[in-house]
Amino acid sequence: MRFIDEYRDAKAATRYARLIARETTRPWTIMEVCGGQTHAIVKFGVDELLPSKVELVHGPGCPVCVTPLELIDKAIAIASRPDVIFCSFGDMLRVPGSSKDLLVVKASGGDVRIVYSPLDALKIARANPSKEVVFFAVGFETTAPANAMAVFQAHQQGLENFSILVSHVLVPPAMEAILSSPINRVQGFLAAGHVCTVMGYTEYEPIAKKYNTPIVVTGFEPLDILQGVYMCVKQLEDGRAEVENQYARSVRKEGNRPAQDLIREVFRVTPRKWRGVGEIPESGLGLNAGYANFDAELRFGVASCAADESSECISGIILQGVKKPHECPAFGTRCTPEHPLGATMVSSEGACAAYYRYRRVRAAAAKE
Ligand code: SF4
Repeated sequence: MRFIDEYRDAKAATRYARLIARETTRPWTIMEVCGGQTHAIVKFGVDELLPSKVELVHGPGCPVCVTPLELIDKAIAIASRPDVIFCSFGDMLRVPGSSKDLLVVKASGGDVRIVYSPLDALKIARANPSKEVVFFAVGFETTAPANAMAVFQAHQQGLENFSILVSHVLVPPAMEAILSSPINRVQGFLAAGHVCTVMGYTEYEPIAKKYNTPIVVTGFEPLDILQGVYMCVKQLEDGRAEVENQYARSVRKEGNRPAQDLIREVFRVTPRKWRGVGEIPESGLGLNAGYANFDAELRFGVASCAADESSECISGIILQGVKKPHECPAFGTRCTPEHPLGATMVSSEGACAAYYRYRRVRAAAAKE
C-alpha cells in the first residue's frame, strides 16, 4: 500500500474484523499504548468493528496528558520572567497549570513562542544573546533525539543563554507499571510504532516474557490497528506471549542506533512523575551531569515546585485501562476541552478529549 486512503479502506477493515471475530473464542482486553492510536480508534470507530469479546482500553501514551501539573507551573514561572524567551510546541500552550496557562502568560506580555523544532529555539538563542531562551522539552522517546541534538549543539557552540525544561517519559516502564498493578486488566499491548521506530523493540521482549503478555508494535491507521489487534488476539488464543512487529514499514528491531546514541550522550534515565498516574521508577529522562548547565529547572531555581491535581479526576485509572472516559462523572459536564479538569481532557490525543470529540452525544444519551 502506498497511499493513506488504502490504510482506511472500509472493505478491508471489515474483512480484518471478520478475521478477528473468527479467531476469538474468549474475552480479551488489549491496551493501545499511544494517544495517536486512541484517537484513530475513536475517530474511525475501530473498536466498534471488533467482536464484543475483544475490548480495547486506552493507555498513557499522550505526552501532553502525562506532563505533570507542577511542570506546567514551572514553565509558567519561567516564561513569566522578563529576561526569558520561552519556546514550545503549540499543543503545550493551552495546557492549564494550577492557575493559568502559557497562552495567558503570552497575552500578558510574556515572550512565549511556538516553534516546530528545538533547533528553532537554538536559532532564537543565537539571535538574542541578551535573553535567556528556554525550550519546553516534553514527550516520549520520539521527541528525545531532536531535544538531545539541540542540547548537544548548544554545548558544542558554547551557547550560554539556552536551556531546556525537561519532562521526557519512557514507554516500557509505564507498561510494566500497568502490568504489575493489582487492578491491572490488560492482557495484551499494541505498542507505539513511532516510539519503536526510534528505540526498536528489544526492550519489550523481557516484559512480554516476565508478564506473559503479547506485545505487537503497531501503526496508527485503522488497518494498522486492526492488524495489530488480529496479531495480538492470535497470540492470546495460541497461548503465546511474544513481541511482534505489525509496523514493519517503519520499525526495525534494533531501531535507530544513531538516535539512541545521541539520547544516551545527553540524557540519563531518572524517576519521573506521570500526570494522573504518579511517580514511576526509571520512567523518564533528565540531563546527564555533563549537560546539567542546560537544565532550566536548575538555572531558574524552580526544581521544588509542587501542585495538586483535581480530586474529581479519574484520569489515572483511565490511563491504566481500568475505566473509560465516559464513566467519569465529570465527563462532558464539569470537564470539557475548554475547561479540562485533568490530564486526558487536555490534549486532542487524550482519551477523554477523543471521546468528547467523537462520542459525547452518545455518552450523554446513555446516561439519561
Ligand atoms: S473527563 Fe475530565 S475529570 Fe474525568 S477523567 Fe477525564 S480528564 Fe479527568
